[in-house]
Amino acid sequence: MYVFDAPVQPSLAVQGTNDRFPIRRIFCVGRNYEAHTREMGKDPTREAPFFFTKPADAALDTPCTIAYPKLTNNLHHEIELVIAIGKGGSEIAEADVMDHVWGAAVGLDMTRRDLQGEAKTMGRPWDWGKAFDQSAPIGAIKPIADVPSVETARIWLAVNGEIRQDADIADLIWSVREHVSILSHAMTLAPGDIIMTGTPAGVGAVVSGDVITGGVEGIGELEVTIGPRT
Ligand code: MN
Repeated sequence: MYVFDAPVQPSLAVQGTNDRFPIRRIFCVGRNYEAHTREMGKDPTREAPFFFTKPADAALDTPCTIAYPKLTNNLHHEIELVIAIGKGGSEIAEADVMDHVWGAAVGLDMTRRDLQGEAKTMGRPWDWGKAFDQSAPIGAIKPIADVPSVETARIWLAVNGEIRQDADIADLIWSVREHVSILSHAMTLAPGDIIMTGTPAGVGAVVSGDVITGGVEGIGELEVTIGPRT
């Protein structure tokens, strides 16, 4: 027996069914598009990709309204292709990666940019910038058999109808096959793990009352409203 009720299993909607995708962990890839890497003041290279994480319960279905988070005055949007793992594995070869992928979605890696910048300057972990409550709104997951491509597709984001991010997932520095394989050499992947694959250029601030829309062509769309500060 637990000493109190166990937490609810975090999960995401699945397109075309009432079934839910249970989330185990959320991995995120840092600086995975050249133009975004440059806008963050870094040189894009083919140095090994790096990862950070969010708690599973940072994820929530869209459409939704998220609170403007605590501690920040610079909340940024990052639109990302999301990969959902359905079959675990360790040291997965690039050629075998797609056998482990259950589906794909579009998601937002919401970022408290001021806290992330402070962490970078101070040599501290990124968690306070990245891993806060409601920091990962994600659209319904599309089963991989119905996904036309995780190699090339338009990825876009608009704020109040004005396009801010517009790119193609073909521009990923580390492709899905590559970064999932690399991740599986660092951690044993398990069913329910999801990977936010990085954001293209054009990140920027949102404020209470803004409505974010975005999508990955052929995979899904999302809508997120920024609510009042809590
Ligand atoms: Mn990101």
